[in-house]
Amino acid sequence: MRGYLPDFDVRVPASLGEALELMAQAPGSYTPLAGGTDLMVVYNAGRLKPTHFLDLSRLAELRGTEEDATSLRFGALTTFTELRECRAVHQHFPNLVKSARATGALAIQNRGTLAGNIANASPAADTPPSLLAYGAELALVSPRGLRRVAYDQFHQGYKRLDMAADELLARIIVPKPLGRGFHYFRKVGTRQAQAISKTCLAAYARIEDGCVAELRIGLGSVAPAPVRARNAEAALLGKPLASLPVAAAREALLADMSPIDDIRATAHYRSVVTRNLLGQMLRELANA
Ligand SMILES: Cc1cc2nc3c(=O)[nH]c(=O)nc-3n(C[C@H](O)[C@H](O)[C@H](O)COP(=O)(O)OP(=O)(O)OC[C@H]3O[C@@H](n4cnc5c(N)ncnc54)[C@H](O)[C@@H]3O)c2cc1C
Repeated sequence: MRGYLPDFDVRVPASLGEALELMAQAPGSYTPLAGGTDLMVVYNAGRLKPTHFLDLSRLAELRGTEEDATSLRFGALTTFTELRECRAVHQHFPNLVKSARATGALAIQNRGTLAGNIANASPAADTPPSLLAYGAELALVSPRGLRRVAYDQFHQGYKRLDMAADELLARIIVPKPLGRGFHYFRKVGTRQAQAISKTCLAAYARIEDGCVAELRIGLGSVAPAPVRARNAEAALLGKPLASLPVAAAREALLADMSPIDDIRATAHYRSVVTRNLLGQMLRELANA
């Protein structure tokens, strides 16, 4: 059964200041609405609780991508299409281009936003593994001011976020990789396109003197939230590309995951295939 539109109150502030004022007047009672591609699915299923919505679409402060010498700063309303089309994203963050291409179809990519993908907090979302691999930070704004949080601290459990009810995700800050970098992204779904992932692995490594000098691995669909594969990372850090401890890293990855059986895949499938993705990533890294 669908939701009933007159039950919903939608406010459309013209500026971030106005949005924060509304939020200050009724703390915690507004649900942000960006592209609506997640919220409208819940509405259509009749499961969206009647509430007050804060439509963010007119907030110019949450749009655009800024580049400086050390980072790219994406406005919360940056769409997947904008990520795909941004030259600097291709240059510095190829995994983000692949994540955006892997998300839904063109209509979803035109409307769906980066902040919505993060804040919806699905363990199967496609940009979080790449954002974890690139060491992203989030800027959150509320009537109380601005704060920054490391993205790998943001997800605190299934649909639990380090974000208060009166906070908006304003920017996603991604530091530019230094030196010689290796990038890997692979999503496994039932189809090549228009499929929610069964498992997803994104990695960024910096190579120095033939060794793994820096490594971050982000995983999707294998835990209650997107997670860093810290045990696998620890097994590989500092190791020479010529003799990467593949078996030890695959073993260590087991401690990074807590996959479940669901409609898309079994826990066993997720565990085996994610370790295979790590093996593939390491073969490519060894030849990088
Ligand atoms: C047909 C279809 C296919 C899809 N395929 C994929 C896929 O392959 N991969 C994938 O990852 N996702 C997929 N999605 C899910 C969805 O498109 C993405 O998660 C998208 O990024 C959501 O962004 P949005 O702007 O539409 O969010 P909305 O629906 O507007 O909001 C989603 C959630 O985020 C919150 N929110 C939004 N912006 C902010 C903000 N700035 N600050 C705080 N909270 C905020 C909202 O309150 C809400 O809880 C699909 C959806 C559909 C309908």
